[in-house]
Amino acid sequence: TFAVAAQDKLMVGVDTAFVPFEFKQGDKYVGFDIDLWDAIAKKMHTRYELRPMDFSGLIPGLQSRNLDVAMAGMTITETRRQVVDFSDGYYNADLLIAVKGNTTSITKFSDLVGKKVGLKQGTAAASFMKGKYKADYVEFPNIDNAYLDLQAGNLDAVVHDSPNVLYYVKTAGDGKVKAVGENDSILPQQYGFAMQKNSPLTPKINAALEALRADGTYNKIYVKWFAKEP
Ligand code: GLN
Repeated sequence: TFAVAAQDKLMVGVDTAFVPFEFKQGDKYVGFDIDLWDAIAKKMHTRYELRPMDFSGLIPGLQSRNLDVAMAGMTITETRRQVVDFSDGYYNADLLIAVKGNTTSITKFSDLVGKKVGLKQGTAAASFMKGKYKADYVEFPNIDNAYLDLQAGNLDAVVHDSPNVLYYVKTAGDGKVKAVGENDSILPQQYGFAMQKNSPLTPKINAALEALRADGTYNKIYVKWFAKEP
């Protein structure tokens, strides 16, 4: 059974901006994670409150027990697993490079050496890139500001998770920005919901996730946000 105690109101930390998983539309948070989590919470018959914050605040928020759950298209890593629980993976991603539409000098990750590259603070992409390619990195708490700097010509490239780069490129429109580096398959990864270490919620969330895969809800939400089957 999925149910958690009825008086429970879970505090759910959510990244302020990670299209199309969580982002603000008007005064509401929308996205794939938001819909998937809401379906999980319904299965568990639990109420919750969303707490938007910078990505780098989410794991500390779980550790200090101010949050019960964190969602941010968060990459499941062994390092993070030392301090938090993860649900089963619910989305596969890797990294991509966003460049201006007229850029020809950057087509793959090794082209980033010596370039000015935007990253998002505290992410798996940021720590991987800094350890792997010698570039002039600028780190942003909110990746949307990196994309604005790219469009303004203050950065040569932005590196972030593939679904985020692809969605941004599509919504920027007009070929203003394009995605490159897809053949490199850099940092293949899975996203999971994060909970406090040894949380009793973890098995319940996994059971709910499994039920949503089985009853077609997961697919429906996936198609809504990615316009294709998982
Ligand atoms: N997947 C990235 C990570 O966990 C973060 C994605 C995001 O920017 N929210 O490091």
